Amino acid sequence: MRLPRFEYIEPINFEGALDLLYIHKDNAKVLAGGTDLLVRMKKGLLKPKIIISLKALKELSYIKKDDSYIKIGARTSIADIIASDLIKKEACALFEACEKIGAVTIQHYRGTIGGNILQDNRCIHYNQSAFHRSGRQPCHKDGGKICYARDASDRCNSTCQSDGATALMALGANITLVRKGTERIIDLDNFYTTDGIMPFAMESNELLKEIVIPIQGGKSSYKRLAYRSAIDYPIVSAGVFLKSSDTSKNEIEDARIVVGAIARAPIFLAKASSFLKGKKFNDISAFKKAADISMDNASTFAVHNVGSTLEYRCAMVSEMVFQALKEAAIVTQE
Ligand SMILES: Cc1cc2nc3c(=O)[nH]c(=O)nc-3n(C[C@H](O)[C@H](O)[C@H](O)COP(=O)(O)OP(=O)(O)OC[C@H]3O[C@@H](n4cnc5c(N)ncnc54)[C@H](O)[C@@H]3O)c2cc1C
Ligand code: SF4
Repeated sequence: MRLPRFEYIEPINFEGALDLLYIHKDNAKVLAGGTDLLVRMKKGLLKPKIIISLKALKELSYIKKDDSYIKIGARTSIADIIASDLIKKEACALFEACEKIGAVTIQHYRGTIGGNILQDNRCIHYNQSAFHRSGRQPCHKDGGKICYARDASDRCNSTCQSDGATALMALGANITLVRKGTERIIDLDNFYTTDGIMPFAMESNELLKEIVIPIQGGKSSYKRLAYRSAIDYPIVSAGVFLKSSDTSKNEIEDARIVVGAIARAPIFLAKASSFLKGKKFNDISAFKKAADISMDNASTFAVHNVGSTLEYRCAMVSEMVFQALKEAAIVTQE
C-alpha cells in the first residue's frame, strides 16, 4: 500500500498553521504523529491535497498544572503522558489509557494525545485496503448508500476506539479549538457528535490546541478489553471517576462512568453514574449494580463492527465498569 501524492507543509509556529488551514480548509489535513492519518491514507480512505505537519510546533507539547487544572498541549506524546507523575496522581484513568495505546513504538515515537482523541471512527468493513473494498458497494462512510454493520441503516455506525477519549471524558475534560482569529472551549461530552462520518463537532479550519482536565480531588481508573495486549484497539473500554468531599464519611459524592469502543462515540452513562451518589466506597454490590445498569444502557448504542460478537462485548461492558470502579474506590480509600 502506497501513500497517495500530496504537498507537505511544515509551518514553524501555531499562527502559521492556522493561516494555512484558513487558506486550504477542506483540501488540507493536519498531521501530528500520523499513526492514524497515514494509515488511512495508505488504505485510500483519505486523499488530502495538502498535509500540514505540526512537527515543528514544540509549543504544543507540554503538561502543566495551572491552578486546579491540568493542561496538556495537543502535540504532547503519549509517552510523555505515561511518564508524568502529575497525570498518574491526578488523572490516573488517562495514564492507564495511554499505557494501553498501540505499542511502545506508537507511544514513544509518533502518537500524540491530540491525534488520539481526533482519530477517525473505525469499522471492520471500512478500515480495509482499497482492493478489499473494491469487491463490494461502497458504504455510507465510503460515499455510498449502504451499511454493512447494521442492516438497512441510513447512517454510518462506525465506532470510536480512542482509549484517550474515553478516559478524558470520564475525567470531565474539555478541549480548546482555535481557528484564525477565534478560540472556543468545548466539553468532550459535547464534542463527539455520534455521527460515524463526521464524529467531531469541529470545523476543517480548526486546530486542537489544548486539553484541560479539572483537578477535582477524586480518583479515576480505566479498563479495556482487546484481542491482544499490544498493537490492538479496544473492543470495549470503561473510564470511571469517583469523588468524595469528606473521606471520613466514606461516601461517593460524585461519579462519572464512560464506556468506550462500543458505539459511535464514548458514552457518558448518566443513570449508572448518579446511581452511585451517596453509596459507600466499599459497597461492592452497588458497583456491581452500577456496572449492570451501564451494560443495559450501553447495549442500546452498541454496534457490531470492531470484531468479536456484540453479545460478548456488551457483557464485557459490565465487567470493565466493575473492575474500573473497584480500582478507583480502593485508591480513593488509600
Ligand atoms: C497498529 C496500531 C495500533 C493502534 N492502537 C491504538 C489503541 O490501542 N488505542 C488507541 O486509542 N489508538 C490506537 N491507534 C491509533 C493511533 O496510533 C493513536 O490514536 C495515536 O495516538 C494517534 O496520534 P497521532 O498523533 O499519530 O495522530 P495523527 O494520525 O497525526 O492524527 C489523527 C487525526 O487527528 C487529526 N489531528 C491530529 N492533531 C490535530 C490537531 N492538533 N488539530 C487538529 N487535528 C489534529 C489529524 O488530522 C487526523 O485526522 C493505533 C494505531 C495503529 C497503527
Ligand atoms: S458502520 Fe456501516 S457505513 Fe459506517 S463504516 Fe461501517 S459499514 Fe460503513
